[in-house]
Amino acid sequence: MTVSPNQKMILVTGGAGFVGSHLCERLLEAGNNVLCVDSYRTGSRANIFHLLGRPDFEMVRHDVINPLHVEVQEIYNLACPASPQHYQYDPIQTTKTSFMGAMNMLGLAKRTGAKILQASTSEIYGDPSIHPQTEDYWGNVNPIGTRSCYDEGKRVAETLFFDYHRKHAIPIKVARIFNTYGPRMHPNDGRVVSNFIVQALKGEDITIYGDGSQTRSFCYVSDLVDGLVRLMASPPETTGPINLGNPGEFSMLELAERVLSLVGSASRIVYRPLPADDPRQRQPDISIAKRDLGWAPTVALEDGLRETIAYFRDLLER
Ligand code: NAD
Ligand code: UDP
Ligand code: UDP
Repeated sequence: MTVSPNQKMILVTGGAGFVGSHLCERLLEAGNNVLCVDSYRTGSRANIFHLLGRPDFEMVRHDVINPLHVEVQEIYNLACPASPQHYQYDPIQTTKTSFMGAMNMLGLAKRTGAKILQASTSEIYGDPSIHPQTEDYWGNVNPIGTRSCYDEGKRVAETLFFDYHRKHAIPIKVARIFNTYGPRMHPNDGRVVSNFIVQALKGEDITIYGDGSQTRSFCYVSDLVDGLVRLMASPPETTGPINLGNPGEFSMLELAERVLSLVGSASRIVYRPLPADDPRQRQPDISIAKRDLGWAPTVALEDGLRETIAYFRDLLER
């Protein structure tokens, strides 16, 4: 890769994943050079295949649990499986990825002087006792349950970010991302949007866990990427944590009905046991993102679902 002095070199860890691949595209469109680092644990070459061969894009297979020595000006740290099924498959690896991945990327930021953004999560709030969730809420997380590898891993990563910021004056940005969906989600990762769409397209039963009254707020991936880029470009005092998500809140039953009607599917809705520690409700308060980043989501659920359904329809036909 040849880099001219006025072009930025940006590292995206987890760049071959769902969100990461869209972020790489956006950063390239804006004229940056992108170094994508991924272990392919849950991501794939297919997600970034169309970018390979570009002179401004480089892909390195690497696990962020190990140190990484590269020269970059900005780091987006996204490496970590995000779906409960994926992160619980090897929970120790998940905690190590969040903790050691954050530590190595912060060490890299310290050495190079790079600005670093952490993809944190609404799971910081656990099963929240306040609604909607504001950034000053400390959360309600089970430290020893089956979701803890992800929740506590992400919490300790936030701790490290703020300690490196206080001790070493590293410029940090912490985004608390709420449920995000869109093309390139893994069809078998067990997340609700991909599950419902794939089930509806195949005419299989739609599996609602519990009674379907639990809620989530779904953000379309292009909106999220826009928020991440704005956060990275924000003034140094805007460290976050800052909620990025779509405040539109839906029950899983409502989501199932919308998917069924948009797909025009005859699938039946069936009920399955609720997984342990499944949060009852989730909705971001995005007042700070609006005020400090001038950011709010623009894509309505129906429009985002249409795009995502088209992607999965095409994928299943191939
Ligand atoms: P994803 O699983 O599609 O992408 C994660 C990527 O990280 C994959 O390409 C995977 O191979 C890579 N990875 C995992 N462990 C790694 C390691 N040890 N070293 C290097 N690469 C590794 O998930 P996603 O939905 O794109 O999520 C991206 C980031 O955003 C994650 O950090 C996730 O926690 C965060 N996030 C996502 C959501 C969401 O709804 N999608 C919500 C909150 C937070
Ligand atoms: N690190 C890295 N790349 C670098 C610089 C550091 O991966 O360019 C790793 C380093 O191996 C260490 C971690 O980041 O494990 C934290 O680095 P730091 O300098 O803060 O800690 P120290 O090495 O002093 O323990
Ligand atoms: N869910 C569901 N059916 C599925 C997959 C998930 O009802 O086939 C529920 C799940 O129990 C949770 C919600 O949908 O209440 C969101 O699940 P997801 O795994 O997408 O994300 P998270 O729980 O991490 O927010």
